[in-house]
Amino acid sequence: MAKVAKFGGSSLADAAQFQKVAQIVKRDPAIRFVVPSAPGKRDKNDEKVTDLLYKSYALACAGQDTGEVFDKIRARYEDIRSSLNLKTDIISEIGVIRERVDAGATIEYTASRGEYLNGLLLAEFLGFEFVDAAEVVFFTVEGVLDAEKTNHVMSKKLAKIGHAVIPGFYGSRPDGSIQTFSRGGSDITGSLVARAASVSIYENWTDVSGFKVADPRIVENAKTIRTITYKELRELSYMGAAVLHQDAVFPVQISGIPINIRNTNEPDDPGTMIVSHLNGAPAKGDTITGIAGHKGYCVITIEKSRMNNELGIGRRFLEIFERHNILFEHLPSGVDTMSVVIAEKAIRGKLESVMNSIQEELQPETMDFIPNVALLAVVGRGMARSVGTAAKLFAALAQAHINIRTIDQGSSEISIIVGVDEENLERSISAIYGAFFSA
Ligand code: ASP
Repeated sequence: MAKVAKFGGSSLADAAQFQKVAQIVKRDPAIRFVVPSAPGKRDKNDEKVTDLLYKSYALACAGQDTGEVFDKIRARYEDIRSSLNLKTDIISEIGVIRERVDAGATIEYTASRGEYLNGLLLAEFLGFEFVDAAEVVFFTVEGVLDAEKTNHVMSKKLAKIGHAVIPGFYGSRPDGSIQTFSRGGSDITGSLVARAASVSIYENWTDVSGFKVADPRIVENAKTIRTITYKELRELSYMGAAVLHQDAVFPVQISGIPINIRNTNEPDDPGTMIVSHLNGAPAKGDTITGIAGHKGYCVITIEKSRMNNELGIGRRFLEIFERHNILFEHLPSGVDTMSVVIAEKAIRGKLESVMNSIQEELQPETMDFIPNVALLAVVGRGMARSVGTAAKLFAALAQAHINIRTIDQGSSEISIIVGVDEENLERSISAIYGAFFSA
């Protein structure tokens, strides 16, 4: 069965990386569809082509000269083209783009050209057909992905093609104008192609060998996650574990196509497999799949005696946030207490009004606001049926003298979410990792 391979920006940053990509594609005849990102950074101090394009747009808007930025963009592509002996007239293509940007092209059109140009070069290099994403990825007038139209048109188109390169990151609106996904959105394109072509696997090639159990900047030499379910991944990505775009899971999840995160620079490493479900209980010691955390939350807690007997108090509490247009993240509650966890930026400028409304409308006995909270999620499908996971987790935090602000275990029982003071986030993650993984 066919495969889709999506290659990220660092995997296609220069001619040497293009060679690695070609080797990966050529050695596996099942790879029929390839989705490229725009050239990324070649080293730490380099600039991504997409960032250069955004810069050119800003300069054009300010009526300034875009020449220097376009020189850099041209140099990036021309270097790839000439090193690989390709014939695509990239200079003319870039000339047209610059003219349009200078004449007031949209930000979306401008940003999308990084993938478009890389797609042209990669298609020629691989000897695959180039399929412009604008013809197969569709957005609604409101700018929301039209997943069904995309799937319908794309599957028809790809059924007629043996091998194709489809640039990531963009598509078109009903009026034909270009629309992009949010940053990192080529992952979503890869997923859409995987669904439309009903492939057996969606390979997502990047510069790391899959997901680590914990952020390697916090836990040095953190173990790699070999298999993870979509649901577990969703919990970890929500908390900021970033390798794959958050929205990339949904299209393949519909048809249960696994995603394999692979490393272009270590092509023999099996990476991480993301699957719809796993049969049987996880191996012993595999209760926890991953740990991720995020700063920037706050907690509002109200206490009122006999709260459990007051009909509608929960609804009225939440209604106050709804009225203020504030999304809430979690809702840990006790018999006579109720807390709402909110992203700090969501309540900025509205705190006083929210607190006044709570006081007037609910008349709690106490009302507490805790700023600077970090949330961390300990995720694992194995915890549903195993005894002692929570005990181990909280013992690890206690031993590290970390005060817990909130606890929330979702009813799916695949994660426990803990709130701690922001300054304790890194120590908390290390302590939990130590308890579960350093035997
Ligand atoms: N090139 C785009 C970005 O830098 C999209 C992508 O790489 O997926 O965000």
